[in-house]
Amino acid sequence: MKTLEELVRPNIRALQPYSTARDEYAGGEISTWLDANENPYDNGVNRYPDPHQRELKRRIASLKGVREGQLFLGNGSDEAIDLAYRIFCTPGRDNAVSIAPTYGMYRVAADTNDVELREVPLGKDFSLPTEALLSACDDRTKLLWLCSPNNPTGNAFPTREIERVLRTFEGMVVLDEAYIDFAAEPGFLGRLDEFPNLIILQTLSKAWGMAGLRLGLAFAAEPVAELFARVKYPYNINGPTQAEVAKRLSAKIAPQVEELCRERRRISDALTACPAIERVYPSDANFLLIRTAAPDRLYDALIAAGVIVRNRSRIPGCAGCLRITIGRPEENDRMLQTVQTFRP
Ligand code: PMP
Repeated sequence: MKTLEELVRPNIRALQPYSTARDEYAGGEISTWLDANENPYDNGVNRYPDPHQRELKRRIASLKGVREGQLFLGNGSDEAIDLAYRIFCTPGRDNAVSIAPTYGMYRVAADTNDVELREVPLGKDFSLPTEALLSACDDRTKLLWLCSPNNPTGNAFPTREIERVLRTFEGMVVLDEAYIDFAAEPGFLGRLDEFPNLIILQTLSKAWGMAGLRLGLAFAAEPVAELFARVKYPYNINGPTQAEVAKRLSAKIAPQVEELCRERRRISDALTACPAIERVYPSDANFLLIRTAAPDRLYDALIAAGVIVRNRSRIPGCAGCLRITIGRPEENDRMLQTVQTFRP
């Protein structure tokens, strides 16, 4: 790996972060807060929230088995995706590499930041094109995006292939594990200390069932997590979200995850038996990617039945494909009814 000094944008290295009123004094002795130009009348949300989310980070770090300093909390993982470009890639100069097809925000955030993104097509059966990814990198490649399990293909990549990328690529590897709770393998969080160039993204929007609260997690070595903390907006996680997430973290997600994985198997088998379906791809996520000869007509037939899925058939590498989220059993049955009777 190159040094952080070499990888981080010079202006970010030199950045003097904004100091909030609550950074300058967060102590407990004060009863009269006249420092932050807030409205003094208590309505539950009149005070600014903790800019460092200390309590929430303490709870999430303990839950995930990492140190608090290795954690960044964002307004969804989408915030961490954008910040990764802003920290590491000088616009118009540096580049990033990703697999394709994959989660669309790596591209949107690259374009927003005027950073070249080199997309490397997945191999046969959506396999990780490890050597091609590494060959696509040059001296100006700062970020390499991996998503495992990958959206929209659903498959997780082999651990040893991800290890090879981590050990060979000189820049930062961002490994998006948004769907890791649905996968058979445990992911890389337990190995964070082994790889100083690893940034892991997870989210509370999927297995944790908190998409509406907008909380994304990034895990990295302390000096990298510290960079995210320096460039973020001061109060990026609002007060109600901090409080509501803290309340819900003691929930046990395993029973629902097991139920969704059981449904995934049931739906996968049922779709495989449908005459209109050419292929149901193996999935380690909470969705299935299917291929049909008539994706647009099947999509419309589902809409006519009141069921919305994601039409991915125009994405390179996904011709003929629809992506179907695993819902509740009765919702899945409604979807299946239409697919079972559909004729291309
Ligand atoms: N990564 C992947 C792979 C995703 O599919 C998504 C959302 N669909 C995200 C990140 C963003 O999640 P969040 O709700 O945390 O912004």
